[in-house]
Amino acid sequence: MNPKLSNRINAMETSATLAMAAKVRELKAKGNNIIGLSLGEPDFNIPEFVKEAAIKAINDNYHSYTPVDGYADLKRAIITKFNRDNNLVYTPSQIVVSTGAKQSLANLAMVLLNKGDEVILPAPYWVSYSDICKVAGGIPKVIPTSIETDYKITPEDLEDAISIKTKIIIYSSPCNPSGSVYNEKELRSFADVLVKYPDIIVISDEIYEHINFTKKHVSMAAFKDMYHRTVVVNGVSKAFSMTGWRIGYIGAPEWIARACNKMQGQMTSGANCIAQRAVITALENPPSRIMYMVDAFKKRRKLILNLLSKIQGFKTNQPQGAFYVFPDVSYYFGKTLNGKNIKSASDLSMYLLEEANVATVTGEAFGNPNCIRISYAASEENITEGMRRIKEALK
Ligand code: PMP
Ligand code: GLU
Repeated sequence: MNPKLSNRINAMETSATLAMAAKVRELKAKGNNIIGLSLGEPDFNIPEFVKEAAIKAINDNYHSYTPVDGYADLKRAIITKFNRDNNLVYTPSQIVVSTGAKQSLANLAMVLLNKGDEVILPAPYWVSYSDICKVAGGIPKVIPTSIETDYKITPEDLEDAISIKTKIIIYSSPCNPSGSVYNEKELRSFADVLVKYPDIIVISDEIYEHINFTKKHVSMAAFKDMYHRTVVVNGVSKAFSMTGWRIGYIGAPEWIARACNKMQGQMTSGANCIAQRAVITALENPPSRIMYMVDAFKKRRKLILNLLSKIQGFKTNQPQGAFYVFPDVSYYFGKTLNGKNIKSASDLSMYLLEEANVATVTGEAFGNPNCIRISYAASEENITEGMRRIKEALK
């Protein structure tokens, strides 16, 4: 803590996913043979048709500031995508393009939260939700879950968490880190609770919508009585393997989209122009063009679940989407491994990095202190070797 810095930044946690990614880079640069299973980052090349669109945009001399909320034709492509894939109807003034879904979430927290407003976070939740909300003055109200319920909440859990101060609820489905997917019936049961509390805004993070092995993605916004109070967050990082291109977007009630546009106008001026041009092409293409990546993730899921089942003390659910497994590793708490005392998931994650040269992320960062997150957005070879090393280090 540095007293010369603001209380705001002093109170903020470092992103555990990005901190581990930095550590992996550092260790690799020193020559360590690390297998990185920490970061949720597809290892595929960007589809050729998307690359070509970016190259064309450079050659066509795109270089200027774009409209703050995104090029008009990109917004049209997003509207078409929402309509085609999610049966959602938006007008251009309901769409805001941002520098990644992460910035979309930050915009939303900044424009919706006042000091003391409560944010319901079903746990495990994606690592950044909590700090993004806290920096905007929000107070996370975490709903714990466990492997027994596939890390899902019930409508009763939701109702119990609601108070007079509840402003928003944020969740991802498919979920990072548990891989759980809420089906239509479950989402409807939450909507039935929420209709009693008309001021609560739902932020539905659907960035893994295509990496869904149930093949049935449902959005809360598709319910007629929830559309006007649900913000859909999405982006191209996961589906198109475009993490570094930094494009995300929202479909939102117009008053929220306008506020995000205003926020972004002061904070970033909007997203990168070349990346925006490429994303038009990405989204205009049907999801069938990226299904080869989803098929590969499905194969990898099978592989990692099989290998994990042979590791003593790792209890895992069957993830239905995204590309993570989230084993409960509490079996090891209180045990000593190679002279190291394991008291928590963070200790175990650190032990695996030091002893097995395998990078994972502690579940504590996702609001579940019994688990670690392992990303299988990695080659089959690395998954196999990573699990072999973990098994060996835990013997
Ligand atoms: N939401 C979830 C659930 C994520 O896993 C991520 C990680 N990329 C993001 C949002 C942020 O995505 P982006 O790269 O578009 O900022
Ligand atoms: N979302 C990815 C993850 O959870 C990337 C890292 C990040 O954006 O924090 O690993």
